[in-house]
Amino acid sequence: MTSAVEVRDLHVSYYGNEAIRDVTFSIEQGSMVGIIGPNGAGKSTLIKGILGLLKKDKGSVRFFGEELDKVRKRIAYVPQRSNIDWTFPITVMDTVLIGTYPSLGLFKFPRKREKALALESLSKVGLSEYRNRQIGELSGGQQQRVFLARALVQQPELLLLDEPFVGIDVASEETIVHILKELQQEGKTIVVVHHDLSKANSYFDQLLLLNKELIEYGDVGDVLNQEVMSKAYAHQLRFLEEVEVAL
Ligand code: ADP
Repeated sequence: MTSAVEVRDLHVSYYGNEAIRDVTFSIEQGSMVGIIGPNGAGKSTLIKGILGLLKKDKGSVRFFGEELDKVRKRIAYVPQRSNIDWTFPITVMDTVLIGTYPSLGLFKFPRKREKALALESLSKVGLSEYRNRQIGELSGGQQQRVFLARALVQQPELLLLDEPFVGIDVASEETIVHILKELQQEGKTIVVVHHDLSKANSYFDQLLLLNKELIEYGDVGDVLNQEVMSKAYAHQLRFLEEVEVAL
């Protein structure tokens, strides 16, 4: 089976400052992978780089064995909540409907089918009653669930989420994890940037440990150990203590 994502020798920089370098890995279809690493390690940059949202200095990325342009519709991305303007006047339902646009084609508006799909996704994340609310009125956890619903209407085979659990309530986190695990059981591939190590063990099958370069990529048990983690977190003692707790 071809990999869901295959990254070779990826380098991305900001104004000449290298953020990630020499990153090579491939993710099997149907896996649930956590991207971990210290603050500023380049986790978001990696996601944006592989999705073509940032210019690569070097390297190649293939999805399902193809170039991004050929398979864009099969991929959904949930950006970091802090990068979104929540004061933008748009309802919950319309936010979710945006997810149907790529499959609609130019100058076409969502119709019955898309609306039904959006409602179904909203109900999956437990927010159908909120469909007419303004997105800015929702709590952080609810907003994150709306963005997951927007990704779900795309019916993606590969879903990438950037720090989906930051600043959200426990119930929203549980709902999101439950949905991600369900998607995985359907054979979808899930990639999550995640900095909280305490749950990494129960959420993911594989971990990709990044600190500008790829430090380690493998099964959770092979990555979450003192020897490997100290390579990335050598200067962050508090984090190493967290690793101990996580273990
Ligand atoms: P992480 O997601 O692991 O916290 P990031 O990918 O956000 O790390 O950042 C990696 C590095 O790139 C950091 O040193 C950060 O300061 C830098 N960086 C991120 N975004 C930008 C940007 N828009 N402009 C300049 N530098 C950036």
